[in-house]
Amino acid sequence: MPRPSFPKTIFEFNQWFPDEEACLKFLIQSRWPDGFICPRCSHTDYYWIPTRKLLQCKKCGYQASVIAGTVMHRSKMPLRVWFQAAYLVTTHTPGMSALQFQRQIGLSSYQTAFTMLHKLRAAMVRGGRDRLSGMVEVDETYIGGERAGPTGRGALGKVIVAGAVDIRGKYANRVRLRVIPNVTQATLTEFVKENVLDGSTVKSDDWLGYNKLTGAGYKHIVSTELIHIHRVFSNLKTWLRGTHHGVSKQHLQAYLNEYVFRFNRRGTPMAAFQTILGLAKGRLGPTYRGLYGVAKGQKAWEHPTNPILERLLS
Ligand SMILES: [Zn+2]
Repeated sequence: MPRPSFPKTIFEFNQWFPDEEACLKFLIQSRWPDGFICPRCSHTDYYWIPTRKLLQCKKCGYQASVIAGTVMHRSKMPLRVWFQAAYLVTTHTPGMSALQFQRQIGLSSYQTAFTMLHKLRAAMVRGGRDRLSGMVEVDETYIGGERAGPTGRGALGKVIVAGAVDIRGKYANRVRLRVIPNVTQATLTEFVKENVLDGSTVKSDDWLGYNKLTGAGYKHIVSTELIHIHRVFSNLKTWLRGTHHGVSKQHLQAYLNEYVFRFNRRGTPMAAFQTILGLAKGRLGPTYRGLYGVAKGQKAWEHPTNPILERLLS
């Protein structure tokens, strides 16, 4: 059996997922598209224990969780609520605030809505994703800050975000965004190396921070026309203000990830349905580490990240 598709309309959604059992079946098919194989004895027959969301090997008794490593792991929320949440988050183009989300899903607690949204957002980080290539525009922008103050490089109380977008013909293709500690050569060169394939052409303004790109294996063009990355920054700021009414420094990278995720899938948003439930291949588990603590305010946001930039940030 192939990996299942994703619901394309709300009508399809309701037809596919009328109850918990339907959701469980979908999960089983997503996790074991070629059929269940016992990890201990390779037997393929199993008992199904829906109350505990487990498959149990008929031969050796091994119990495999259907939801371990997904966003639903250790959640008391019914699967159908998670599925609805994933559908809403992927199809609602501008994304949602926790309050909108709480109302749409009909949750009594804002805290629960916040936690669920954050878990779904964590699943939007793709590990080992491809780097941008071809013609790539790179720039930085400043976000946030309570008071009106100086703008541009060196602005106080703001968070610096580096961005890259690759251009295909006249159009922006994919985007990458990242909180950075400063705009030095070391930081900006590292940002480019992390996000742009060597040999690509990088277009930036004439800031000194980009002077090491040629030595780092890129063709470097200095230009005053960076229309695509500037448009990305402008839309990002509108989105942060409009949908989320501004965000804290601590969570900014999570929102950047969501923005990037939506931008790069703007053609087929529903295709992200499984990804954000945490069902994508090879990326179960550690992404959700610490999220409970974050939602309860006990822990700082831990973002799976580039260790070199992380060291520069601390
Ligand atoms: Zn077995």
